[in-house]
Amino acid sequence: MRLCFYDHNRLGLVEGDRVHDVSAALDLIPAARYPFPCHDGLIAALPTLRGAITRSGDGVPLGSVRLRAPVLNPGKIFAAPVNYRKHLQEAVDDPATFSRAHVRQIQETGLFLKATSSLIGPGEPVRIAHPDRRTDHEVELAVVIGKEGRNIPAGRAAEHVAGYAIGLDITVRGPEERSLRKSLDTYTVLGPWLVTADEVPDPAALDLALDVNGQARQRANTRDLILDIPALIEFASAFYTLHPGDILLTGTPEGVGPIMAGDVMDARIEGIGAMRVTVEDASAGPAPVS
Ligand code: MN
Repeated sequence: MRLCFYDHNRLGLVEGDRVHDVSAALDLIPAARYPFPCHDGLIAALPTLRGAITRSGDGVPLGSVRLRAPVLNPGKIFAAPVNYRKHLQEAVDDPATFSRAHVRQIQETGLFLKATSSLIGPGEPVRIAHPDRRTDHEVELAVVIGKEGRNIPAGRAAEHVAGYAIGLDITVRGPEERSLRKSLDTYTVLGPWLVTADEVPDPAALDLALDVNGQARQRANTRDLILDIPALIEFASAFYTLHPGDILLTGTPEGVGPIMAGDVMDARIEGIGAMRVTVEDASAGPAPVS
């Protein structure tokens, strides 16, 4: 099942190149009152909602809608730094760009958090806030947590995965902490939809790619992750509880490079899909969709 949000918070079921409005299923999510839970209500309810997500009619072409992030209320976005060997090497080889303090083995650095307010979908542009500083694209396989858990052993990690999406971890290079440099508004892109885990039999063997303005930048396969998805879930859940809707960015491979206003990024991951994301200047851009 491929689920998206589009236009003004419509829930969509994607089949082929069409999207079907299945927003009625949102009425089945248990109502919440303040204080709100720190998980995503749709992802938490998904196991019981799946039967209610059925299409009627012909839908509309995907190209006619504006895709939002497929998870709208994640409690947290946690991410792996330098989790591909060749990316580690390119960072080691370029100390002028990659601050020496940040280039270490992932087992030593641990994970980092991105602000949930940085999250957008592919229908919205990345807005460059500091055009005077190098800002990079990072394409990553994103994992959406489906079930709460703490101290999850790697061997049981798959039970806690709701599905997968493409993630872009947009990053300002420099000396500050990662969480600051990667948490700017629009600097986390998730899309084009959530592919439920049952449709991704082997997430450890997916080609991923990113082009900028039609030129190849990143080409890799998730088999080259240093810490694979089960290891990342075990690592993270030894420190904090994972909740439904939490987003795990698994790390970017080699080939990261700068983007600037006017650029067009095309990202794709085998078995998930493809998405085009434009880049604008934050000072010139329109207000985000609400
Ligand atoms: Mn990253």
